[in-house]
Amino acid sequence: MSETARTVVFDTPGGPEVMRIEDRPLGEPGPGQLRIRHRAIGLNFIDTYQRSGLYPLALPHPLGMEAAGVVEAVGEGVTHLKPGDRAAYACQPPGAYTEARVMDAAQVCPLPGPISFEQGAAMMLKGMTVEYLFHRTTPLKRGDTVLFHAAAGGVGLIACQWARSEGITLIGTAGTDAKCRLALDHGASHCINYRSEDFVERVRDLTGGRGVDAVMDSVGKDTFDGSLDCLKPLGMMMSFGSASGPVPPVDIAVLGQKGSLKLTRPVLFTHLADHDTCQEMAQHLFAKVLAGDVTIRIDQRFPLDRVVDAHRALEARETTGSTVLEL
Ligand code: NDP
Repeated sequence: MSETARTVVFDTPGGPEVMRIEDRPLGEPGPGQLRIRHRAIGLNFIDTYQRSGLYPLALPHPLGMEAAGVVEAVGEGVTHLKPGDRAAYACQPPGAYTEARVMDAAQVCPLPGPISFEQGAAMMLKGMTVEYLFHRTTPLKRGDTVLFHAAAGGVGLIACQWARSEGITLIGTAGTDAKCRLALDHGASHCINYRSEDFVERVRDLTGGRGVDAVMDSVGKDTFDGSLDCLKPLGMMMSFGSASGPVPPVDIAVLGQKGSLKLTRPVLFTHLADHDTCQEMAQHLFAKVLAGDVTIRIDQRFPLDRVVDAHRALEARETTGSTVLEL
């Protein structure tokens, strides 16, 4: 009988309760593929968009886009990893909520020894997102100021530290005062509780009326318009998520009226599609972590069996930093 792996799948879009665990056959890796046995799995907000149907998948489908573990076998043509290597990844298509899987090897990266499996699982998707936001989306330099929403979240706490290490002033927002303190502790220069304060006014005050060079907005519907109002002329709006719901259609004339603003809707997997770029981004992230510039904070751990509770907590805004599914 062939080996199987316990895997989270869903058959219909909906709330966290649509997820179930099934035994899936594992198989051997084909050309360009590898088989990895997971030691820890990362939870990401994007997993909830896929589960709810906001980002549709052909159903039934497994979930999860980030994990770390040990390579068990590699297919023909795979040279950057071998059986026994520690490895971590952010991947497309989803399927990381599992004990083990066969997958495209190009997106899998060797995980340096000092970085634990848990940290690897908690940081690949989130950390490489921060890497491309700060280095591959618009030129940002020491002394620039960015506004970063949801600064105490998984991507957020990495961004706070990354900005500090690059000499960039990061103004964060977060949903509670306690979350704001966390963002400040991790390198945000200021943090605004956007549920109790008008963040546009505060950003204007904090920048002497000038506005910020760039906004990194993953909250979407609730913050998009205000974010545009926080930019200085020629500023860059990076709309990279929809935690509060999708951004309604935008009238591009508004960008002109508000000062020749730039707008992009970036996606990590555009960058990761190229193997060399993917490995380069991972190396950059690992270097930041190994240098101590960025620490990966894991504030929630759930056994794989409790993935439903993990999604509930993330969507209820109860989490901070990264969340890991344990095996
Ligand atoms: P987070 O840990 O940041 O969790 C999401 C946070 O969004 C919440 O904790 C909450 O923080 C905030 N939020 C604001 N409004 C709502 C709402 N109505 N419902 C739920 N949460 C809300 O998640 P991740 O670190 O996994 O991801 C952060 C964002 O980055 C996500 O939107 C994700 O989709 C996006 N992303 C985009 C990528 C890309 O390449 N485009 C890649 C990776 C992530 P608070 O309470 O402080 O407001």
